[in-house]
Amino acid sequence: MTNQTYPHLLAPLDLGFTTLRNRVIMGSMHTGLEDRFFNYGKLAAFYRERAKGGVGLIVTGGISPNRQGWLLPFGGTMNFIGDIFNHRKVTSAVHEEGGKILMQILHSGRYGYQPFVVSASSKKSPISKFKPKALTESGIEATIRDYARCAKLAKMAGYDGIEVMGSEGYLLNQFLCARTNLRQDSWGGSIENRMRLPVEIIKRIRKTVGNDFIIMYRHSLLDLVEGGNTWEEVLTVAHALEKAGVTILNTGIGWHEARVPTIVTSVPRAAFASVAGRLRREVKIPVVASNRINMPFEANDIIARGDADMVSMARPFLADSQFVVKAASGRADEINTCIGCNQACLDHTFSNKRASCLVNPRACHETELVYKPAAVKRKVAVVGAGPAGLSAATVAAECGHDVTLFDSSDSVGGQFKIAMQIPGKEEFNETIRYFSKKIELTGVKLRLGQRVTRDELLAGGYDDVIVATGIKVRMPPIPGIDHPKVLSYIDVLQKKVPVGKRVAIIGAGGIGFDVGEYLLHNPAHPLPLPIPTWAGEWGVDLNATTSGGLVKPDAPEPVRQLFLMQRKTSKLGAGLGKTSGWVHRATLTRNGVVMMAGVAYDKIDDEGIHVTVGGEARLIPVDHVVICAGQDSLTELMPPEGSTGGPRFHKIGGAALAAELDAKRAIKEGAELAVSL
Ligand code: FAD
Ligand code: NAP
Ligand code: SF4
Repeated sequence: MTNQTYPHLLAPLDLGFTTLRNRVIMGSMHTGLEDRFFNYGKLAAFYRERAKGGVGLIVTGGISPNRQGWLLPFGGTMNFIGDIFNHRKVTSAVHEEGGKILMQILHSGRYGYQPFVVSASSKKSPISKFKPKALTESGIEATIRDYARCAKLAKMAGYDGIEVMGSEGYLLNQFLCARTNLRQDSWGGSIENRMRLPVEIIKRIRKTVGNDFIIMYRHSLLDLVEGGNTWEEVLTVAHALEKAGVTILNTGIGWHEARVPTIVTSVPRAAFASVAGRLRREVKIPVVASNRINMPFEANDIIARGDADMVSMARPFLADSQFVVKAASGRADEINTCIGCNQACLDHTFSNKRASCLVNPRACHETELVYKPAAVKRKVAVVGAGPAGLSAATVAAECGHDVTLFDSSDSVGGQFKIAMQIPGKEEFNETIRYFSKKIELTGVKLRLGQRVTRDELLAGGYDDVIVATGIKVRMPPIPGIDHPKVLSYIDVLQKKVPVGKRVAIIGAGGIGFDVGEYLLHNPAHPLPLPIPTWAGEWGVDLNATTSGGLVKPDAPEPVRQLFLMQRKTSKLGAGLGKTSGWVHRATLTRNGVVMMAGVAYDKIDDEGIHVTVGGEARLIPVDHVVICAGQDSLTELMPPEGSTGGPRFHKIGGAALAAELDAKRAIKEGAELAVSL
């Protein structure tokens, strides 16, 4: 599968004993399906679709070599012969589609969220409540044996190789860094001692599995934590791993406890590829670039300029299983692009829920949400071309229904057109691009600039009407809400009404935080932020001259003084995404935003906003007050309760429920309704 547009990405890679069909790796992702034997059929279906979609090499989610290594209680393991039967379902599915697959061996060390955790030393991690036991020397030897046995069983289960997880702050990283390895014995101290565990593991695995088996090692290039390794140490480890028998060096950036974002949407695309390039120039085996690479052009470019031999993308394969075939056939504009939101993948994983994808609710539900031809073709009207309506219309049309999609605006996207105005959320535009193309491909009849009424819908002869009209902004009844200094978030983000230097934001949900980031953006900085500007803001040394790759962040010069307020007394932003909320909080805090909880809004007048906090009345003098106080559903098209006859009416997305609305639910509801018509 070669293609003139992406010749580097789609070129085969000869590893000597085996050849990979292209340079695309689907990186390891914990789906939640690998933890239960009865889910292996679903897991096999998930990987089969990706293999059929042309991925060169798939890496499974992390499988623990023993019970101490579990990330969560009763996580997936590969430590006795009975385990291989489930895994064979996965390997056979991938091989039948011409793909290759590695099993990732992941020992979580002190990141495990279970009582058996072990580490190099008994130092608790900030992200698990369980304090680890320091491994004894015999415990270390047993761990090495467990890795080797795990790899041997993986080979018996039909895997083409294994990936040893050595980055993101898991056990092997914990041994590698002085931050967590406080040992005084021959497994601690110098880098030569600290790297003994991963190196011994690789040697033992190689001895056990022979030479015709891929061993990929995920090596941490920038730890992004205090006490992380220096570049010299990173290279010392890489050379030792190469010598010990590693076939491919995959790369990882940042520990899970790092306070620098590494994969959320605001991280510029391919931000860390240059660091992989520095490693590639030092070793002879293939090197893989990873992190925030989500489209074929960037991936191809990374290989073309010599920063890597292969590119690993993980979440992009949740978003679109057909990524590679679309790229190879010149249809990159049809790719459903991962927007880096983490809402249905990592946020689910860290809440112990099955992973999926905001833009593709079929991910990890391939056998349950099936877009198959409908038995009866129905005439369907979808009103509202936001995420919910776009999803419903395109899936219904894909299933063979006759679909007309209406929107009163002159373009599709709904609130996603507003969301993409937020600095760091530019990627949301890709979802609009994807659905626009999908409308064309599935033959949905698009009627823009048309605010439809119920009478028009009743006269249209439709079998089904899907009301996906979204929301109307809530303006709370605060005295002075009509004052000229009061703006809604729509006024600010969509209508671009000029905003003064001192601003109060009422409502600290997702939109309040987003408006904060929008108002703090320095217009002198282009968007999306160039990689060096972003690295400076977060204190990342991409030249890796410091321990862990950390430097002092650039001091921000806030362009406005913001006051972010909520009525609840809880921490502001507590309801934001588990894996992304802290990034928004850190950005606002760094820019000096005053966060106010437990606020009662008394009135807004020429002086500013009058509030009561903790029983004390205060005036906050501001130029503007921006209302981000949630929304109410827009349901005017729904027939009155109890009416009979005419088409079946359905409500989805914001129109169905405005509270806690997000695009994940909107898109999922649209797809589920469409297949059920
Ligand atoms: P909408 O997107 O509101 O679409 C409704 C559509 O219906 C509109 O296009 C409207 O023009 C049309 N319409 C209404 N009435 C009629 C009519 N009578 N006739 C014709 N057309 C009509 N969600 C997330 O999950 N993650 C995020 O990070 C995120 N960030 C956001 C940031 C901002 C700044 C904003 C504003 C929203 C954000 N959201 C986010 C929320 C997300 O955009 C919404 O959850 C989602 O758009 C809801 O989809 P929907 O299709 O139900 O409604
Ligand atoms: P939200 O998260 O429900 O927040 C609404 C805010 O308004 C809350 O802070 C609430 O706090 C306040 N509020 C509610 N009623 C009020 C009233 N009558 N008077 C004054 N304040 C009131 O809603 P949102 O921020 O509008 O976001 C909408 C949806 O978009 C969210 O559900 C979210 O999932 C999604 N979104 C997600 C992201 C993301 O990054 N994942 C980003 C943006 C939006 P108090 O009640 O304490 O005052
Ligand atoms: Fe990407 Fe968001 Fe889907 Fe996760 S949920 S794969 S981050 S688009």
